[in-house]
Amino acid sequence: AGRGGCHTIRGAQIKELLQSKRNVLFDCDGVIWNGETAVTGAPEVVRLLKQQGKRVFFVTNNCTRPRENYVQKFSRLGFTDVAEEDIFSSAYCSAAYLRDVARVQGKVFVIGCYGVQKELLNAGVTMVEEDDDGPDVSIYDCPLDPDVKAVLVGYDEKFNFLKLAKACCYLRNSECLFLATDPDPWHPLRGGRVTPGSGSLTAALETASNRKATVIGKPGRFMFECIAGQFNLDPEQSLMVGDRLETDVLFGTNCGLSTMLTLTGVSTLKEAEEYKGSDSPEKKDSVPDYVVESITDFLEALEE
Ligand code: PLP
Ligand code: CA
Repeated sequence: AGRGGCHTIRGAQIKELLQSKRNVLFDCDGVIWNGETAVTGAPEVVRLLKQQGKRVFFVTNNCTRPRENYVQKFSRLGFTDVAEEDIFSSAYCSAAYLRDVARVQGKVFVIGCYGVQKELLNAGVTMVEEDDDGPDVSIYDCPLDPDVKAVLVGYDEKFNFLKLAKACCYLRNSECLFLATDPDPWHPLRGGRVTPGSGSLTAALETASNRKATVIGKPGRFMFECIAGQFNLDPEQSLMVGDRLETDVLFGTNCGLSTMLTLTGVSTLKEAEEYKGSDSPEKKDSVPDYVVESITDFLEALEE
C-alpha cells in the first residue's frame, strides 16, 4: 500500500508490515488505553512485539504526568515490561527542549500541571516559584519576575485569568520564548464528557499576546527527534500508531514514518477518507497509510 493509502489491514498483512519494521511508536490514550482501561489485548501486543525483537516507544501529548508516574500507570493496567526510558510525553520533551535546545538562561513561567512542573524539575530547568497570590492580588499589582526568559503553556486544571495575564506580560518581551506542550483541542472523558486540551489554553494566550507558540508535542517533529537522538531510530524502519489524524498521523508523516490509524479513539475511518480528497496539504498528510479496528488485531499477526 502506498503513502496515505488509508488501507484497512488484518492478520497476514499486519504481519508483513510488522516484519518490515524495527520500531513501533504507540500513542497512548485511544490506542493502548482509554482513560484507566487498557485496550483489550494491548499489554499482550506490547509484550509480544518486544519478545520478537521490536523496539516499542510510547509518544503521548498528555503532559499531566511525569515519566515515573506513567511507569506506574503502565504497570497498573497490566503492561509489565515498559520502562521509563521508553515513554516520551509532551511534558518530558518540553523540558528536554528547554534544557538542550533553547538552553534557557533564566526562569520559565509555567502554566501547567504537576507533570510539566516535575519534568522541568527533573531536567534542572528553573521555574518561577508557584506563588499563591491569594484573592486580593489583581492584574495591576501582581508580582512579575524579571528573570523569566520563557513561558510554557500546557494543560492546567487551575488555569485562571491571573496566570493568563502574567504570561501575557512576560510575552511582551519579544526575547521571551513562547512554548506550548501540545496542540490538542480537547479530550474525551468517560460518559461522553470532554475536557479542554492544552491547545485551547495556548489559543487564549496566543490571542492575548498576539504571538504564536512553538509547539513541542505531536504533530511537531521534536518528539521524534528526542527518541531518535536517544535510540538512533531510522524513520523508514518505524511505524507510528495513533487514534487522532491531525496529531498522531500527521506527526508520523512529518517525521517520515509509516502511519497507522486505530479506531479505538477519537478519529473515524470516514474522516480519514474525507481527508484523502481534501485540498489542504495538512489534511492530506493526516491520512494514514494503514487502518486497523484495534491494536488487538496485532495479536493474530504476532502469535505463532
Ligand atoms: N492531554 C491530556 C490532558 C489528556 O487527558 C489526554 C488524553 O487523555 C491527552 C493529552 C492525549 O494523550 P495521547 O497523546 O496519549 O492521546
Ligand atoms: Ca490519542
